[in-house]
Amino acid sequence: MPTQDIVTLDKIVALCKRRGLIFPASEIYGGIANTYDYGHYGVLLKRNVIDAWWDAMLQDRDDIVALDSAIIQNPRTWEASGHVGGFTDPLVDCRSCNQRFRADHVNPDEICPAKATLPKDQDRRHDFTEAREFNLMFETTVGPVKDTGSTVYLRPETAQGIFLDFKTVLTFARRRPPFGIAQVGKSFRNEITPGNFIFRTLEFEQMEMEFFVPPEQAPEWYDHWKAARLQWYVDLGIRPDHLRLRDHDPDELSHYSSGTADVEYDYPGTMGWSELEGIANRGDFDLTAHAKASGKDIEVVEPDGRRYVPHVIEPAAGVGRALLSFLIDAYDEEQVADGDVRTVLKLHPRLAPVKVAVLPLVKKDGQPDLAREVQAKLKPLMQTEYDEGGSIGKRYRRQDEIGTPWCVTIDHESLENRTVTVRDRDSLAQERVAIDDLPGLFATRLASPWTSPKLKG
Ligand code: ATP
Repeated sequence: MPTQDIVTLDKIVALCKRRGLIFPASEIYGGIANTYDYGHYGVLLKRNVIDAWWDAMLQDRDDIVALDSAIIQNPRTWEASGHVGGFTDPLVDCRSCNQRFRADHVNPDEICPAKATLPKDQDRRHDFTEAREFNLMFETTVGPVKDTGSTVYLRPETAQGIFLDFKTVLTFARRRPPFGIAQVGKSFRNEITPGNFIFRTLEFEQMEMEFFVPPEQAPEWYDHWKAARLQWYVDLGIRPDHLRLRDHDPDELSHYSSGTADVEYDYPGTMGWSELEGIANRGDFDLTAHAKASGKDIEVVEPDGRRYVPHVIEPAAGVGRALLSFLIDAYDEEQVADGDVRTVLKLHPRLAPVKVAVLPLVKKDGQPDLAREVQAKLKPLMQTEYDEGGSIGKRYRRQDEIGTPWCVTIDHESLENRTVTVRDRDSLAQERVAIDDLPGLFATRLASPWTSPKLKG
């Protein structure tokens, strides 16, 4: 059965909570809207998503450098970038229930909760005010006195830090366009619309790369990055028919953009096709704006004397949205022999929080000691987990639910001939392997190309 028929957002939320991947923040105080914490396996998974992105940017290429810029910048940054004036959503309030909605997201047929008990023939819809523009940036103050001039903003995107440092990086990285600067970090937006779990949160991590090119090369690099970014998700196991590239209509474009395409994922339920990542052709908007506002020269000078302000192609992805799509695409439920259902995350091994679980069949007869020895062999190579609690069946299920691709089981035979059982998460095949061969076996498997078992049938 196609996963999208089995999986629902509610099931993903429940699994994340049950296994401690992701859960509501400040829960002991009743939580705070659109804000989540990542537990142990969530942190491991998130780190793997970010590492895969860094590898695609840095390790696989040699025309991109890394940066980690500040979250709080000089507030003039956001005036020049257009965020103080233009980074707004149009909001409407309902006069009856006092809830606030994004004007471009409201459903005109929705029943207002304050009028839900009225008879059906009466007008039970929301009574909206006129739309007002609402700035999404969080403000705070620097210094001990809340006076004028001390207002600063939490960055709503990481990109601006890259533009501010462009000239510095150009010098110390000894680069000339085409080249890119990549950054991963938290951004903040005062989002008021419903979040759909981690799809839309107040604070979120972004993986952004600004690729600086001579103006005439912008169209070809825009095409390059659209294709490359779509392929990244496919290579990490998302089924191609759940992904698409959608070009923005001219009236959808952000204030800085001369062309944007979204990588969209087909989320289950009412969410449907929604943005995972935006790839924008920002032209010379940002560099020119900062050059003007700061009075600093941001031009590139070629050895032949040509001077120009580079154009910028930006792939901007959200860690949480990527992670959520990996979880959804990996989720499966299978009927097993005893009439039970096996819940399993068929994650790409590269993304799996734990690569190998080491399980002694029983908690005695020297099996735990040998299991610890096996784990010690694998620890330098990959994330492992040792588990001796509960029946072996229960332990396999627990690993299936967090997407561990391989379980190594130590039994009485292991003590006699130093072989163990390796169980495959997806095929459930079990093979007997010599303990000394395990590091090589798993290293090879982790480095091999991987296709989602769902695609194989
Ligand atoms: P949307 O239209 O869904 O609000 P956006 O077009 O404003 O998103 P961008 O400004 O293009 O988003 O940001 C780049 C990426 O950052 C998005 O594709 C998304 O993955 C991520 N992102 C943006 N806002 C949020 C948020 N509030 N929560 C989680 N991720 C976000």
